[in-house]
Parts: sequence; C-alpha cells; structure tokens
Amino acid sequence: VRATRGGEEVRGYVPSMGQIFMRRFQMVTQFRQSLEDGQVSVHYQPKVSLPNRHVQGVEALVRWQHPEFGKLDPDEFVPAVEAAGLIGVLTSFVLEQALRRVRKWLDEGLRISAAVNLSVRNLADAEFPAKVSAALGRFDVPPELLTFELTESGVMSDPQRALPILRELHALGIVLAVDDFGTGYSSLAYLRQLPVDQVKIDKSFVLGMGTDLGDLAVVRSIVELGHSLGLTVVAEGVEEDIARDQLEAMGCDVAQGYLISRPLSEERLEAWLQARTARSPGRHAETVLTL
Ligand code: C2E
Ligand code: MG
Ligand code: MG
Ligand code: MG
Repeated sequence: VRATRGGEEVRGYVPSMGQIFMRRFQMVTQFRQSLEDGQVSVHYQPKVSLPNRHVQGVEALVRWQHPEFGKLDPDEFVPAVEAAGLIGVLTSFVLEQALRRVRKWLDEGLRISAAVNLSVRNLADAEFPAKVSAALGRFDVPPELLTFELTESGVMSDPQRALPILRELHALGIVLAVDDFGTGYSSLAYLRQLPVDQVKIDKSFVLGMGTDLGDLAVVRSIVELGHSLGLTVVAEGVEEDIARDQLEAMGCDVAQGYLISRPLSEERLEAWLQARTARSPGRHAETVLTL
C-alpha cells in the first residue's frame, strides 16, 4: 500500500483514521490505570563525561508495555498523554522513579545525576516548581543531581508562560538543558536569554557527522558557541568510536548514545553499573568506562 499523509509518503500497512483514533483514545483512557498496573516503566541511558569517561548521569526515558499494542514508543504516546491533560501525571511518575534511583546511588556512595524530559505543558503548571521542590525534599536529593531537558520549540512556543517557571526551577538549583538542539528555528544567541546550563546536540547531526561535512560543521559550531556562552555541551546519538573521538577532540563535555549503552531497564542498568564501578575504602565509588 502507498499512501500520503500530511505530505509524507507512507509505505506498507496503513491503519485507517478510525483505527488511529481508537488506538489514541484507548491510550488516553487507559494511561492512569496502566501506571497503577505497572505497564509503564522508566529506562535509563548512561551519559559519560569526556575525556575521562566517568558515568556522570543517566537520562530517564519512559516506556509503556501495552497489553494489546505491545511496546509503545514515547514519541507515540507522550503526545497523546499531553493532549489529554495527563502530562503532569506522567512527569511526576518519571521524576519519582528517577529521584528514588539517585537516592539509592547516593546511599551506595555514587554521585550520578538523572535527567528527566519535560513537556511544554509542564511549564504551564504554576505549581510545578513547588511540586519538584517537594519531591527533591522527600527523597533528600540535592537539586544539582536533577536535570530537566526541554526542547527549544517547547520553550519558544510560549516563552511568556515558560520563562518564569524555568527561572524558578533554575533558582532551586536544578540543571536545565535544551534538548534536540539545532532542529528548531532559534539561533544560539537566543540561548543567552534562557536560564539554561546545558545544550544537547540533536542526534541527527551527531549520527551524520562521520559522512556529512555539513553535520560536522553544525556539531562543531554548537560545541564552540555553547562553550563561549558558558554552557555544558552534550552530544546524543553517539553510536561510533569515531564520533566519540571527534567529539572529544572538539572538547564536547558529555557523550550519550548506543556506543556507551542503549537505554536500560532499572535492573539491567544496575548490573551495567556494577560491572564498571571501582570501590576503594574511604573514597567515593567511581564508575568508569573502558571504551
Ligand atoms: P530525547 O529526549 O531526545 O531522547 C533521546 C532519544 O534518542 C531516546 O529515544 C533514545 O533512546 C534515543 N537514542 C539514544 N542514543 C541513541 C543512539 O545512539 N542512536 C539513536 N538512533 N538513538 C539514540 P526514546 O527513548 O524513544 O525517546 C524519544 C523521545 O520521547 C525523547 O527524545 C523525549 O523527547 C521523549 N520522552 C521520553 N521519555 C519522556 C518522558 O518521560 N517525558 C516526556 N515529556 N518526554 C519523554
Ligand atoms: Mg531528552
Ligand atoms: Mg534529544
Ligand atoms: Mg527527541
């Protein structure tokens, strides 16, 4: 079957509009119950600092194992959850899981931060900073071990509303990152006006930098300008040794991608970390990669 949807060509099985609608409807009506039933979980993808390859943090990525539809991709259900006004419920769930993890690591002598993705709709909730502050207190996690990731288009869609909330979060000491950087329409100069600490170079450029000189140039200029603005630069989509080496040579601060690890379930992440943690008496445990 060939069809056109929104100007894009779609090949293969094309569900009818009715089927798409029903599926979305089910996702939305079932979401809360799915949380309670344990179908929704959080996976974690490690990030390493360059050049020393310490595990510096993890990104929390939500997963939904649906009994009928199977494994659902966040790109599919997060927008449906947002549209249904349930993003607050989803974000609280992911945040709590992530903070519980960070607490557990602290108890084991490991300082590993967690990054949680926000939706622009979280920033429409004036109570959001207070809720986050309460959660940090409940788990007794220092704010600098929590990062929030936001896409630039998310912030720019309603800056009047988003900015005061971002400033409050920043004032709490939480690290703020612009996700998927380079894909929106804004310039690096506009970053100066945002209370952010970090830029994450979109994976499309990092994946392309080995074969496309244009992508390489984009990556290089984001690293340079990010640094000149005093920001930490993170590259996502690091799949190859060569990309990691190039990023390291450019001075990129942090690498995330399949080369280091895919996103892992809580259990598998623990095993992954265990295998890489060096403990010496009287010192902080350190998690270092040999790659
Ligand atoms: P993101 O925040 O940009 O997350 C990075 C995505 O890139 C993840 O996809 C991750 O699995 C994938 N990735 C990581 N390393 C590589 C690599 O080396 N190569 C390639 N090809 N891909 C890589 P995932 O988990 O499917 O998440 C997709 C998006 O869904 C995320 O993009 C984020 O925008 C959103 N998302 C995920 N979890 C949450 C959440 O808890 N809340 C909200 N609001 N959005 C979420
Ligand atoms: Mg992200
Ligand atoms: Mg991204
Ligand atoms: Mg994304």
